[in-house]
Amino acid sequence: MFRFKSITEYHNELKEDKTSCLKAVDHYLSRIREHQTLNAFTDVYELEARGKASQLDTKRKAGEPLKRLHGVVIAIKDVICYAGHKATASSRILEKYESIITSSALQFLIDEDAIIIGSCNCDEFAMGSTNENSANGPVLNALDHTKVPGGSSGGSAVAVQADLCMLSLGTDTGGSVRQPADFCGIIGLKPGYGKISRYGVIAYASSFDQVGIFGKNIDDIWLLLEIMSQPDDFDSTMLSINESTNNYMKPGSSIRFGIPRQVMEHASLDPEIGIAISALAEQLKEEGHVVNYFDLSLLDHIVPAYYVLTTAEASSNLSRYDGIRYGHSAGSRAIDPDQFYRINRTEGFGKEVKRRIMLGSFVLSAGYYDAYFSKAQKIRRLLSDSVSEVFNRNDAIIMPTVPSTALPLGVKSNDPIEMYLADIFTVFANLTGLPAISLPLFSHSNNMPFGLQVMTNRSDEVTLQYISKLLMQRSKREPVSIE
Ligand code: GLN
Repeated sequence: MFRFKSITEYHNELKEDKTSCLKAVDHYLSRIREHQTLNAFTDVYELEARGKASQLDTKRKAGEPLKRLHGVVIAIKDVICYAGHKATASSRILEKYESIITSSALQFLIDEDAIIIGSCNCDEFAMGSTNENSANGPVLNALDHTKVPGGSSGGSAVAVQADLCMLSLGTDTGGSVRQPADFCGIIGLKPGYGKISRYGVIAYASSFDQVGIFGKNIDDIWLLLEIMSQPDDFDSTMLSINESTNNYMKPGSSIRFGIPRQVMEHASLDPEIGIAISALAEQLKEEGHVVNYFDLSLLDHIVPAYYVLTTAEASSNLSRYDGIRYGHSAGSRAIDPDQFYRINRTEGFGKEVKRRIMLGSFVLSAGYYDAYFSKAQKIRRLLSDSVSEVFNRNDAIIMPTVPSTALPLGVKSNDPIEMYLADIFTVFANLTGLPAISLPLFSHSNNMPFGLQVMTNRSDEVTLQYISKLLMQRSKREPVSIE
């Protein structure tokens, strides 16, 4: 039986001839088949993955040294372009679209001999928090099939949760990697804005979007980050290496954790989650660390600002799907250009995407720009300014990732406002560009897992890595495992 624990262990077993890349791929292919009801994949590259695995096995046996991701089986969210493969953003409008480019982030993984096993279901154009906005239907949480896996990268999260691959890629615009990681009991990392090239990633809100990583082993997550965060001339919004702070902490030194008071007192927070985080804070203090409660007085403005700014950007980004440049086309059914666009976009987009395009166009319209868009930008600026102050006194912010554990399917799907409000703890990192991670440290009395969110200063992934590792090691929890 094939078992995966970490890339290092897998590579050792390959070197000792205890397993092969083909065995690994076949293991995952058969699990994907067995767990089809989870609806995690939109496409499985069976032949290609098996072919690549055999090639790698031959190269290795011929004595070639192993590249860093030799035979590592990875799944990608259906918004990450891979040349010659479908990239549909789980939308009807791109149903037939096959990408002609490979996103830079993915190319960096392929260059290290990763095996890409398939693309994963998600909320349409990454807009959603439960994966129920997908044109391919919802994804089920493998721990409880009546619950959502979270979104928008729900398929990628479940692919890792249910061991259908070793690691996966998602995207996080307002929490779409951290929130499903929290609901599924796995690790989800959203690097700081500009850390990983967005070239070839279907855009939702460009000043927020980041590629993120799901996994069960913290070292594996950082290896993928290291590989994907190479400079890329195709994305001019990337941070240059010198902008990174690389603020190394000495092992054993005491860490200053900041906790936003308003988060812990928020009415939407499940009391059991609050208690678990407070108890952890107490333990950390006993272990010699420092815990400071600080004010995040703008907390209740965060979600409105996020939805004004992201829908504005989305309304512009999604204008390219008009049936001419890209997407579903009415063909000869339309009698004039107006009707042509109308049919293409009416039939192609789902309800939530249409709602956001309309909202975004509204907040950008001449009459309302100052009332909404300018104000939201001001909130973003104030939040960004407040971050420097917080990190003068703290090495990391810790707080819950989500106010509740995974919800039953269907519960919030007809109430968009309720759904938006549940993003309250994750959108902060995207508005401010901070690196953030959700660590699977807790389980609720309702038997569902939940995570601790950790954020560090802009460009300080190094401190985030150090602290995440420490928190994972001290918790000694076994990774979630599905039959
Ligand atoms: N739930 C948030 C939204 O719907 C986050 C989505 C994301 O991060 N892609 O916008």
